[in-house]
Amino acid sequence: MSPGYLAPLVVDAAVLALHRLLPARHVRGYVRGSDGKRLGYRLNGLGVLLAVLVLYAAAGRQGLIPWDYFWQVRWEGLLGACALGVLFTLAIVLGAKPTGKGLLVDLYLGRRENPQWVGKDGRALVDAKMYLYLIGAVQLELNVLSFAAHQALAHPGAVSPGALLYTALFSFFVCDYLLFEEVHLYTYDFIAERLGFKLGWGCIAFYPYFYGVGLWAVADRTDPHTPVPLLVLYVLVFFVGWVLSRGANLQKFLFKTRPEAKLLGLIAPEAVGEGQHRLLCSGFWRLSRHINYLGEILMAVGLTLVLGWPLSPVPWLYPLYYVGLLLPRQLDDDRRCEKKYGALWKEYCRRVPSRIIPGLY
Ligand code: NDP
Repeated sequence: MSPGYLAPLVVDAAVLALHRLLPARHVRGYVRGSDGKRLGYRLNGLGVLLAVLVLYAAAGRQGLIPWDYFWQVRWEGLLGACALGVLFTLAIVLGAKPTGKGLLVDLYLGRRENPQWVGKDGRALVDAKMYLYLIGAVQLELNVLSFAAHQALAHPGAVSPGALLYTALFSFFVCDYLLFEEVHLYTYDFIAERLGFKLGWGCIAFYPYFYGVGLWAVADRTDPHTPVPLLVLYVLVFFVGWVLSRGANLQKFLFKTRPEAKLLGLIAPEAVGEGQHRLLCSGFWRLSRHINYLGEILMAVGLTLVLGWPLSPVPWLYPLYYVGLLLPRQLDDDRRCEKKYGALWKEYCRRVPSRIIPGLY
């Protein structure tokens, strides 16, 4: 068997070891455990990513692996990751109490909500969801860097600036997620999802191997010579998306952790409701009820365009995936919030009528 099949297993094991070994911040999250207390987390994702990249660079310099290793083994790697995702799903689901919704639903959506490996002192050592997001992010970064290395090696002296920009923006996307790991604890994945195939296979196989599909599709091609003003425009689209997404997520995180604090000292929190039941409706959250989803989609569009092959269908799969994921998620989240907040949700929808695109949808 080619070692390429085992590459994701090696990366995931290295990430687990580094996650355990490197110093970490201990934080309290948003969701509560069976004892009613907020779950604790050890977070050190950015440090783990940097350590993996240093190891990868050292292996490349020593000639132990080619710089474009994950490009060369991309198909075997994808298959290995899929198998690992399935094994993980079986292990995490079958050992837990059934939800009563049937085996297939349980396998897909999971049985456990927020499983953690806890130390003798009761503190969390590894949170399964955060570990999965971390291995997804690290493997994605390794893939994108390897795909870019392949572009450079295949076209010496004529590397596509679009491919380089794509790599820089994707690296920014991954680092940004890891820098704000704590903010992620306040999202739908933790509040509303259990851990099964969707999240397990999703993070082990789909996230690292599908998100870079744009560069995967065009890394072999020559420079498309996209005019510089267009490249600048595409980078701008990406960063407008980032501001909307990161801004909204940070504002909500601040609102949940320090309800009276202003975002960046500028945007004061205005809310409908009182006590525990309050909904933010100022700043980013005045624009639409899920302005962060629009931001995510714009980032994906910017990444796709910057590659310089706007008529190639495969790179568009990435933004299309977000549309397919986030449109139903918005409807689902609104249903969940309507149930939780009742009349307050109706008042909030009156104040903020747009679902995702301000004034349009
Ligand atoms: P949100 O961050 O919008 O979280 C929804 C939850 O926030 C609701 O269930 C509710 O929970 C709370 N909430 C909703 N409206 C308000 C309000 N006005 N004031 C206060 N709290 C509110 O959505 P997601 O968790 O789905 O997404 C988070 C981010 O992750 C987004 O930027 C999204 O685009 C991104 N994402 C990225 C993916 C990727 O692969 N890169 C995949 C999926 C999402 P509560 O009951 O606590 O009030």
